[in-house]
Amino acid sequence: MTRSGNLVAQSPVVVDNAAIAELLIREAKTAEGHREQAFRRAAHAAFMWSEEGTDIAAAGRSLTELAGIGHSLAKRLHNWIASPPEVEVPAIRREFLTLAQARRVLKKNPRWAPRLNGDLQMHTTWSDGGGTIADMAAAAIERGYKFIGITDHTQGLSIAGGLDETRLAEQGREIVALNKQLRQRGIDFTILRSAEMNLSPKGAGDMRPTALRKLDLVLGCFHSALRRKEDQTSRYLAALRNPGIQILGHPQTRVWNRREGLKADWSAVFAEAARLDKAVEIDGYVDRQDLRISLLKVARKEGVRISLGTDAHHPDQLGFMELSLAAAALAKIPAERIINFMSVDQLKSWAQSVRASSEPKVTRPARSSRARTLAKV
Ligand SMILES: [Zn+2]
Repeated sequence: MTRSGNLVAQSPVVVDNAAIAELLIREAKTAEGHREQAFRRAAHAAFMWSEEGTDIAAAGRSLTELAGIGHSLAKRLHNWIASPPEVEVPAIRREFLTLAQARRVLKKNPRWAPRLNGDLQMHTTWSDGGGTIADMAAAAIERGYKFIGITDHTQGLSIAGGLDETRLAEQGREIVALNKQLRQRGIDFTILRSAEMNLSPKGAGDMRPTALRKLDLVLGCFHSALRRKEDQTSRYLAALRNPGIQILGHPQTRVWNRREGLKADWSAVFAEAARLDKAVEIDGYVDRQDLRISLLKVARKEGVRISLGTDAHHPDQLGFMELSLAAAALAKIPAERIINFMSVDQLKSWAQSVRASSEPKVTRPARSSRARTLAKV
């Protein structure tokens, strides 16, 4: 994205919230102490402003209405809006949607949001989230969803309080009880048992297959060796072939202003996912937005299924779904490839069929009663 103040006369250049965020983070880099913090906070906040700063200014309202903007930053914003500076966004901060942008996209594509039945990545107090399962479910019901996937971290990610098999089973009992309560109250809503399983750089999981089989869905995610510069295609292929997972979560593992994400032959990665009928995710967490739109276009060409997840760590963060949905709309992903548009029964049967076809086939010869007895010992 290049904007030039010199072009204002021919084509009006608008300093949108994405440009404001970029200008703020640049200021942060040269500021110090609490001013640096203020610029940084405001840059982050700009992505979730629900209105464009320019619209607020044009309406004669104060820019201090915006989260993170005090009087001195408001003045700075007014100057940028009045005479737009050149903004060239570096790769580490490129292809991130703002909420204001996402809302415009969804307004132009009004059939998208009503098809959404649920959110397939979120964390609770069982690992590093701030809400209980019941809190997340209540917020999701309020949004009109039919299901959510509870995807707390697994044991390999101990920094995030990852669950071992015993705790995952305990969590499962809580989910069964909550689902029962929902049914008794006549609420058509299902909490899916899921997990964000930590994958090693070799694509291996950290949970026993017997524990994973009790879940409705399993997301696999990389959390280590994320700064490698060389091609990582083989790591992705290994992860996708891991029979324990059905969805590859935050695939590129990029984070705004921190990490560009891993490199791979994405056509080959998505083609393999499509062959296995597995899904790749659009993680809508504002700092992640992973897969990014340019990769989603490759995903569309390869015909892979797409899962939408907010990666919410608090009920309020379920709102990141607008970023996921808008990214899918911008990349023109066909609706039938988005697994969140399925009913809960379709979703469960898809997961079961993926599981059935990816687990190693065991051919069982007819066993004699003696062999059966021995097997029990
Ligand atoms: Zn993760």
